[in-house]
Amino acid sequence: MPGESRGARNLLSRVRAILSRFGITPRKIEADLNRYVDITQRFGCVPTFPLTAVTLSRHPELIRKLSGREVEFAVHGYIHTDYRSLPIETQTSDFKKAIDVFESCQICFTGFRAPYLRGNGETLEALVKLDFAYDSSDTIWWDVVDKGKYTKQAWNEYRKLLDFYKPRSAQEYLALPRFKSGIVEIPVSIPDDEVMVDRLGITDARELTRIWEMILQRIYARGELFTLQLHHERISLCASALETILQQARELNPPVWIATLGEIAEWWKEKDQFTFGIDSQGDGEYRAKANCSEKATLLLRNCKVDRPTAEWSGGYQSIDAKDFVVECPKRPCVGVGPDSSPHAISFLKSEGFIVEQSDQPHNYGIYFANLADFKEADEKPISEAIERSNAPLLRYGRWPDKAKSALAITGDIDSLTLIDFVMRMFEVWRQNGR
Ligand SMILES: [Zn+2]
Repeated sequence: MPGESRGARNLLSRVRAILSRFGITPRKIEADLNRYVDITQRFGCVPTFPLTAVTLSRHPELIRKLSGREVEFAVHGYIHTDYRSLPIETQTSDFKKAIDVFESCQICFTGFRAPYLRGNGETLEALVKLDFAYDSSDTIWWDVVDKGKYTKQAWNEYRKLLDFYKPRSAQEYLALPRFKSGIVEIPVSIPDDEVMVDRLGITDARELTRIWEMILQRIYARGELFTLQLHHERISLCASALETILQQARELNPPVWIATLGEIAEWWKEKDQFTFGIDSQGDGEYRAKANCSEKATLLLRNCKVDRPTAEWSGGYQSIDAKDFVVECPKRPCVGVGPDSSPHAISFLKSEGFIVEQSDQPHNYGIYFANLADFKEADEKPISEAIERSNAPLLRYGRWPDKAKSALAITGDIDSLTLIDFVMRMFEVWRQNGR
């Protein structure tokens, strides 16, 4: 049957690709990893490598050598299995075993990424129990590939992978970390190298670069986070794309914060503690006190202030002082109705705004009366409505040190040799068979 022969052809080309990427010894992969880190290091970037624990246990020396360079590790399962279909008991015991392997090999790790970018609510519950700093398994999809350029088969492969990941669309959602079930969730941007190379069949370095450039431009304009996923086994095809993205990110001003996933999670928790004190002094004057760390980015718009400020972006000025007097016709806050849901309020606060529940809309340059039934899909529209308004606003920026957006470079390490690759299938089969 034609379907069967196509299937066989696909399998054959997969096998060929795997054979070209892995060797019997880890020498090829070690060279790829070093080439990867040579690039990131040149741009002062520390990549985050989620690593499967059994792979670490088979190659502790190689990973210890790599850990001597500027890299960060995360746990990528005990074995490389689809945790979405496993009960919490199995997930918890697997993650515990993974922690033991990392500890006994003396490899530090920060957070977690699920193999196949697939976990479930119970995965998060297990991670919280075991005190992981973050999870980075959700995906956000950018509409940056043009269907007309690809064969029908490549396009179907691409759609199939999207169905498998079930990413959120960046047209409807913000590409930002978020607190989810008590842990920081850091979404990975799609298309990644696997989608582009293995599914869409792109091998032209310029096209790979163009796709990531479009994502970077959109994310920068929106002030969000680009978690760029590139696996070490595709570094030779994607090296120049990676260099271009890091180069461009380094040249932008206001800057892009290039950080590890661990630093991003830490920042998200730190930022969550920031507060403002706002006291009216009459005549449209407000004494503002920012309770925050030194890294905080303080921004204001459409108001005068008694301290020096500098042009930032999007009509905002940045200010270094933490205690100052703001002059504006309305309170420099976002007003919300008394019945606003806790989700709405915590979202607006996480965006850095001073949020006041009030039944006096006229006190505010921007006021939302109907936030009782606020959903995640309402986050991006409300954030955009605030940006479009002319309201006087005082707020914290999303990123530290006056950065406008953020970039993390990350790629899983599942296997280092052909044997690891074969063992991976056997380990999953054994777990499923029990
Ligand atoms: Zn993986």
